[in-house]
Amino acid sequence: MEIFFKLSRCPVCKENASSSLGACKSCQKSLFDPQISKDLVYLGDYMANLERAVKALKFHNSHRLSKLFAKRLAKEIKQAQWQIDIICPIPLHWSRYLERGYNQSGLVAKELAKELNIKYSKLLIRKKKTKQQAKLTRLERSHNLINAFSLKAINIKNKKVILVDDVITSGTTIASAVTVLSNAGASVKIASIAKTPFN
Ligand SMILES: [Zn+2]
Repeated sequence: MEIFFKLSRCPVCKENASSSLGACKSCQKSLFDPQISKDLVYLGDYMANLERAVKALKFHNSHRLSKLFAKRLAKEIKQAQWQIDIICPIPLHWSRYLERGYNQSGLVAKELAKELNIKYSKLLIRKKKTKQQAKLTRLERSHNLINAFSLKAINIKNKKVILVDDVITSGTTIASAVTVLSNAGASVKIASIAKTPFN
């Protein structure tokens, strides 16, 4: 009984019971502060409860949260009336995928594609096993990501793509992925769960 209770607690506040979308009703209301511009939408700064929620999705198998994030991103994207053909996640390197068993950005991207009724496609391959970005200096970070991605043999000329990431930190990861897609003739917009403040 006690184990069941613990399992069904909200992964964000760890206080209330969780819901079908993972987080409790109260967290669902207070979790987001969405920011949208021409090419970027994210649901809030990577801190406090939103940071806890992303970590729960990423490291603690709270897969239902991907639906909550996707629903909210979809709402913002619909309001902004973005025209989109393909939704694509930022891939993990295969070795990290094996380690974790899932790609958190992929979970959100798949749900987002369902919400918007748009095609989901994994366009990118992560070529290099990049070191954990957080442990590197800014200069090392940009070197770490040069040619980190390559494109699968899919024609995306003139396609409009939403690239989905979990957290935008320095922006170098996403910039590297955007470059690969743009060079193949696609126009790219970005949807992220969170963004680190102050950069
Ligand atoms: Zn909660």
